[in-house]
Amino acid sequence: MAQIRISPLVPLQPLLPLFHRLNREHFGGALTLEGQPLSSVRWSDGRMSRTAGYYKRGPGVGNGRGSEIVLSRPLLEPLPQEAIESTLCHEMIHAWVDLILQRRESHGPLFRARMATINAAQDRFQVSVRHRYPVPARPPRWCAVCPSCGSRYPYRRRITNAACRRCCDLHHGGRWHASCLLQFEAWT
Ligand SMILES: [Zn+2]
Ligand SMILES: [Zn+2]
Repeated sequence: MAQIRISPLVPLQPLLPLFHRLNREHFGGALTLEGQPLSSVRWSDGRMSRTAGYYKRGPGVGNGRGSEIVLSRPLLEPLPQEAIESTLCHEMIHAWVDLILQRRESHGPLFRARMATINAAQDRFQVSVRHRYPVPARPPRWCAVCPSCGSRYPYRRRITNAACRRCCDLHHGGRWHASCLLQFEAWT
């Protein structure tokens, strides 16, 4: 039987460097204070599958920070980088209208004006009022877990003899090794 080595999915990139870059390029650095984001920024868990991202403010939100930006791991993970940038930037416009301009609007004129400016300023990604990403019919059904390093990988179906590439590289000279066999659990 084929022995497969699987690389950790790359798209779960840390969001903070991206946040800082977008903040610099499109918000004049307004969304940080002394180098810290005004709002917490994080990936969702595996269940957030109705929307690509959201911005929320309220007491206790974002580990006490008072506001947070959350991006959907299951929706954005399989999509290209530009989808992550566009979604993060969309939510950062919400944070900017709310925290900096201190105006209560959703996709109103302030939001749209800033969106148009950002879209005109670069062509790496385009921000839209609605996140237009295909919502998968269903979230992944399986989670493959590496018994050695604990890495988790979402899967639509089970794969036999799949080993964690990272651990094969680290501990077994890059060769497939049974001790790195991924174990499939139901996705939660
Ligand atoms: Zn929005
Ligand atoms: Zn591993």
